[in-house]
Amino acid sequence: MSGDDEKPGGTSWKDWRWQFRHRVRTVEQLAQHTQVTPEMAQAIEACSHEFRFAITPYYLSLIDWSDPDDPIRRQAIPSADELEDPLGGRDPLHEEDHSPVKGLVHMYPDRVAFLVTADCAIYCRHCTRKRFVGKGGKMTDEDVDRGIEYIRRTPAIRDVLITGGDPLVASDAWLEGLISRIRAIPHVEIIRIGTRMPVTMPQRITQELCDMLQKYHPIWVNTHFNHPREITPESAAAVDRLLRAGIPVGNQTVLLKGVNDDPAVMRELVQGLLKIRVRPYYLYQCDMLRGTAHFRTPIETGLEIIRALQGWTTGFAVPTFVVDSPIGKIPIMPQNLVERGDGYIVLRNYEGRTVRLPNPSPSLPEQAVAAAAAVSTNGRASANGHSKDGAGASGK
Ligand SMILES: *Cc1c(COP(=O)(O)O)cnc(C)c1O
Ligand code: SF4
Repeated sequence: MSGDDEKPGGTSWKDWRWQFRHRVRTVEQLAQHTQVTPEMAQAIEACSHEFRFAITPYYLSLIDWSDPDDPIRRQAIPSADELEDPLGGRDPLHEEDHSPVKGLVHMYPDRVAFLVTADCAIYCRHCTRKRFVGKGGKMTDEDVDRGIEYIRRTPAIRDVLITGGDPLVASDAWLEGLISRIRAIPHVEIIRIGTRMPVTMPQRITQELCDMLQKYHPIWVNTHFNHPREITPESAAAVDRLLRAGIPVGNQTVLLKGVNDDPAVMRELVQGLLKIRVRPYYLYQCDMLRGTAHFRTPIETGLEIIRALQGWTTGFAVPTFVVDSPIGKIPIMPQNLVERGDGYIVLRNYEGRTVRLPNPSPSLPEQAVAAAAAVSTNGRASANGHSKDGAGASGK
């Protein structure tokens, strides 16, 4: 059976159902693709009890096996490190406390996350929802009905994020049933789909799927690229099909040690995303989730990455760095407001140079504001307002 058909570019290879059915899920199957050392085998066996292992032939083909620290491999192949994590919790975002009905997380006043599936094409080792993803639990039709009913009777909800797991493991027909019912609710303005399929199984983004989705506009998609090597002709084509159906595509990256915790890698990623017309949206601090200690970085790493991007590349290539928490996502920015006084502010630019500017103040007359700014720039700023004694940019 395994002819050219099943090689990259072959008819079977391009068929998402073939990709899904031929996922590598055991040590024996993996051994057909690479040499599996006893340590690898042991780690896979030991971790699989906690969190399943599965990888599509497509995503597997992106791994460079000659590099034990390969960033694609790190995201998809279990490692013994997953078993050592004294700090990580099961549901660090307390999503279950914000769940009025099963599968629905209502954290913010005007929008909900609807977790409609527990399955994915691959099981990302850093997955923030591994408490239920891949565990065989299923949303029943009644659960979905209850979720839709909650949205229907909650007029404040104007934005529904369909997520999971990965909602695109479901068939087009099932998805259309779901989306058409949500679209029929008058107060729902936008529907978003969170899916990693463009990255893990781009074959899933068929023309038929896009034709179906575009009947229910406005639809937005957010996907999850973490490394520039995930940007391939196949993933670019998948994104292109979504865009041609009028669906804007954004990207959420998780900051992961050994994958993308490096300003140069991140710059290559976000600039690569712009080339395929994907807008970087969020950069997430890795959650305090059990089994992810080996991925977590200090907050300073994220701030340093943002500093290395902002001003040094296209403004809309720079994602918002967020820490997710039991009280919601909290964006954090490098501090550029250096000083604030009566009638003036001191700001730092991307190179680390500072500038004093007037700050209109309700309690100060205009003249006093002008004076405060003028006095403070005196002798420090050059003619164009740039000071020469900036604090040194970390982003060079
Ligand atoms: C992330 C998230 C959303 C969407 O948040 P945005 O900042 O609007 O992208 C909604 N609900 C929950 C529970 C979320 O975690
Ligand atoms: S695709 Fe998303 S939900 Fe699925 S395992 Fe990966 S991170 Fe988790």
